[in-house]
Amino acid sequence: MNIILLGPQGSGKGTQAEMLVKKYGMNYVEMGNILRSIAASDNQYAGVVKKTIDKGDMVEDEYVRLIAWDHINKQDKEKGFLFDGYPRSLPQYEHLQDMLRKFGKKIDRLIYLNISQEESVRRLSARRICKKCGEIYNLITNPPVTAGECDKCKGELIQREDDQPEAIRHRLQLFSERTEPILERARQENILMEINGERPIEQIYEEIVSRIWTR
Ligand code: AMP
Repeated sequence: MNIILLGPQGSGKGTQAEMLVKKYGMNYVEMGNILRSIAASDNQYAGVVKKTIDKGDMVEDEYVRLIAWDHINKQDKEKGFLFDGYPRSLPQYEHLQDMLRKFGKKIDRLIYLNISQEESVRRLSARRICKKCGEIYNLITNPPVTAGECDKCKGELIQREDDQPEAIRHRLQLFSERTEPILERARQENILMEINGERPIEQIYEEIVSRIWTR
């Protein structure tokens, strides 16, 4: 089973992805994380990728295609994939379909976690990340035990550069311009599963699991 998990920033994709990967044991491709680790490496494209991410822009489709290919190609395709934050534009969606076709596979489901723009801004503004281990917190829904300190490794909690208000607005605009057209395509292809993301984590998870094998 090959699944795409999509949703506006702060929709809880990452949380659901982790739970689904644990349950179904598929390969997990989290594009935001892959790109952030490239930005922090000595890769020749690190500088440009970091700048793009910090501004809340999207990394170029062609570069994302190469990265995705590299990741998919190395994995056991029979285990299936869960794609998180990828594809994020219609060209990326078509690239992914082409890639999977080469392995005799297809996209089986696109799960769309829907939350309003206001909710997205509210959640992202409250998001904090551990500088040391990357653990994610939310000051409203999932605060650390000690303010400003990671529960797991005691690292310092910081706000991501692209979680600043201006970058958030820009990312949301890109989501509606570039990512939403994928939803229409998936609807036409009869693989779209839309989920109300403004509910407790467990409820969302249960709905996904109960509907995943049906349309
Ligand atoms: P995320 O952690 O999913 O919010 O992604 C963080 C940032 O990585 C995004 O704001 C983009 O700059 C970049 N990024 C992640 N996934 C993609 C993608 N599929 N295409 C282009 N840029 C991406």
